[in-house]
Amino acid sequence: MTRRGPHAVVIGAGFGGIAAALRLRALGYRVTLCEALDQPGGRARVFSQDGFTFDAGPTVITAPHLFHELFALFGQRLEDHVELMPVDPFYRIQFHTGEEFDFVGDEERLLEQVRRFNPADVDGYRMLAEKARRIFAVGFEQLADQPFDRASTMLRVLPAMARLESWRTVYGLVAQHIKDERLRQVFSFEPLLVGGNPFRTTSIYLLIHWLERRWGVHYARGGTGALVRALVQLAEAQGVHVQLNAPVERITVTEGRVTGVVVGDGPTTRTIDADVVVANADPTTVYRTMLSPRARPLATRRPVRQSMGLFVAYFGTSVQHPQTAHHTILLGPRYRGLLEDIFRRRVLAEDHSLYVHAPTRSDPSMAPAGHDAFYVLSPVPNLRGSTRWNEAARPYFDALLETMERRLLPGLRGSLVTSRLMTPEDFRTTLRSADGAAFGPEPTLTQSAWFRYHNRSSVGGLYFVGAGTHPGAGVPGVLSSAKLLERVVPAV
Ligand SMILES: Cc1cc2nc3c(=O)[nH]c(=O)nc-3n(C[C@H](O)[C@H](O)[C@H](O)COP(=O)(O)OP(=O)(O)OC[C@H]3O[C@@H](n4cnc5c(N)ncnc54)[C@H](O)[C@@H]3O)c2cc1C
Repeated sequence: MTRRGPHAVVIGAGFGGIAAALRLRALGYRVTLCEALDQPGGRARVFSQDGFTFDAGPTVITAPHLFHELFALFGQRLEDHVELMPVDPFYRIQFHTGEEFDFVGDEERLLEQVRRFNPADVDGYRMLAEKARRIFAVGFEQLADQPFDRASTMLRVLPAMARLESWRTVYGLVAQHIKDERLRQVFSFEPLLVGGNPFRTTSIYLLIHWLERRWGVHYARGGTGALVRALVQLAEAQGVHVQLNAPVERITVTEGRVTGVVVGDGPTTRTIDADVVVANADPTTVYRTMLSPRARPLATRRPVRQSMGLFVAYFGTSVQHPQTAHHTILLGPRYRGLLEDIFRRRVLAEDHSLYVHAPTRSDPSMAPAGHDAFYVLSPVPNLRGSTRWNEAARPYFDALLETMERRLLPGLRGSLVTSRLMTPEDFRTTLRSADGAAFGPEPTLTQSAWFRYHNRSSVGGLYFVGAGTHPGAGVPGVLSSAKLLERVVPAV
């Protein structure tokens, strides 16, 4: 690392933190990236177990140009480091009745699927897709990398948001155009991918639908972990000082400006001076625990409603299931009622809707020869609910195995050779997420844009990237949050 230039410390090596480190380095900062865990990636870290490779979190890679940009900052090409492969169908959605809908990018093939379910909804889908395209043009192309730390920015976009009917919910907007309840579910579930309840989240999040159609759904050969590794290698080659096992416990502030961070607790504590601190850690945790009460801005003391939790089980089988799609969504018998249980009543329901990831469909290297690797993800209440995960996790996994065996993976329980579980408790303890939430603050209208934690804090020199800040969770969101740093950090 060069000795010149101001010093930036980035707290956390999730996708947002790694991308922030790269962008700050390209701007001329000296950069230290401190990660509490023993590997980078955060939610996108990797579990290697019994010859299987499990991506812990993101598997649906969209908006690949945001990754290309990070390599281009240093005159390099992503494709020289990682292969991104298109996935088709994007998702196979299976209803509890056994009917299947293949969600694909190609409009004609997609319309064919709609027609198969309800011919009368074909025109409605066309109108809905056009709305999604218009929302995307504003919500993603114009606003995702704009800092919303001034009320004036919010006021400027209000007319456009009103024209796009942002007061409606995603489900509300979908239901305006689509009559068939099954298709309404198909076209409204996507906010769940970023922690939003389709019945509560603003219709702005319909932009995810167009984002997927516009750039496709991809898989990185070797898993999402291959992308993390490539980005960290790029960062290190460019002189970013990456420190693993380096938990930042405090951010030091003098006269309203950051001066550095304190790493570790007890005898191994050390301080690192910084001109700029960029937190990729959960902003609720940062403001509550890492700043002295005097330094904490008043505006960050209001209550925040955190997104849902996730229960994720990673497992391997000694046989293969070639009939499965790479991404399958198994919808349960209830939709609205189940979401009410998760988001509002915060109880662990007996029925479930699941996402099953089968990376070996695209990439056999993720499991030993002849085996299959999977993960199953179930949206569950965050820790504001009363579920005791140390008791509930195993029976819950057993229930999911039964559902998957019955609906998707015949003979599953007899062929299981490895498994590991992750519950909201792990999100709280390992990733330091408030309420064990999987996606930071819930993306509702009143917790988005200016109402979300600002990328530029009112504490001088403190910035935020990642799921908890604008524009929000999901890999494209967190990469965009790092991109907008360029507009808010001081020039070198
Ligand atoms: C199971 C799951 C599946 C998902 N699937 C998808 C998907 O398919 N597609 C998609 O686009 N999105 C998906 N998401 C959402 C997406 O993964 C996240 O929104 C995104 O990866 C979050 O990135 P981030 O930059 O906010 O950082 P995080 O991944 O949250 O990482 C933050 C990092 O900060 C570190 N940290 C925290 N506190 C400290 C501290 N005090 N000191 C040092 N380090 C600290 C943590 O250890 C962690 O490594 C999924 C999420 C989950 C959980």
